[in-house]
Amino acid sequence: MNLSALAGNERVKDQLSRQLRERGLSHAYIISGPAGSGRHALSRQLAAAMLCTGTGERPCGRCVPCQKAAKGIHPDLSVINGPETGKPITVDQVRALRADAYVRPNEGERKVYLLEGADRMNPSAQNAMLKLLEEGPPYAAFLLLAENAGGLLQTVRSRCEELTLLSGDRTESLEPERLELVKRLADALEHAGEPELLETAMGLDGKREELSVFLSTLECELGERIVRGGERRRLLRAVELVKQLRESARLNVSAGQLSGWLCAGMFTAL
Ligand SMILES: [Zn+2]
Repeated sequence: MNLSALAGNERVKDQLSRQLRERGLSHAYIISGPAGSGRHALSRQLAAAMLCTGTGERPCGRCVPCQKAAKGIHPDLSVINGPETGKPITVDQVRALRADAYVRPNEGERKVYLLEGADRMNPSAQNAMLKLLEEGPPYAAFLLLAENAGGLLQTVRSRCEELTLLSGDRTESLEPERLELVKRLADALEHAGEPELLETAMGLDGKREELSVFLSTLECELGERIVRGGERRRLLRAVELVKQLRESARLNVSAGQLSGWLCAGMFTAL
């Protein structure tokens, strides 16, 4: 599969290429990752690959469907946003999508729906989506974009292939001891008192580029814990803080300052 437009993220590229070779593309994907991780680029490429009629590697970028997809004018590719800027997709929109999905494709073999901010849809909208994932027509494909896949119902997640993007950094994954720190910090954020959290968070040293991957990984871990039914209130607060931290990580803030802020943020809010 031709995913040259997507920077970094070799693991996801390998996953998709292998899947395409072995059993073809799935009809439903969750594409998650923080802002700037390339989830829009990837979803466009994947949609184009599904609609492409070229020979050889897809998307070819040259055939009429590829060009229409790139210009955003392919009649069988729909991008669904919330009714207003910043608002999540509603249950009514999912129902309208469902009705549309049962109308056969206009030009090609498939119809592709790209849902923005799927993790922010409320449970009724997600359940309507679930029905469609389970019973939708075989030609329909769904790409669910999410900042954090943890915001999606487990039932929805189980019907989709998950593609998890990290931030645009070249560093693709953390060293084992850093992953261990992600787990310890998530534990502390979920359960520990202030001194223990501060002590654990002080381990957040390291290069700034790595810090951003670290924080993305931590956010995913926290999301997973919410889904598994952990301490919801603390975990949600922690996710919110880690998002803010990621913003600050782009500025020149030391890890020590970040950890102090993390602790203050956790305990003033609780
Ligand atoms: Zn093409």
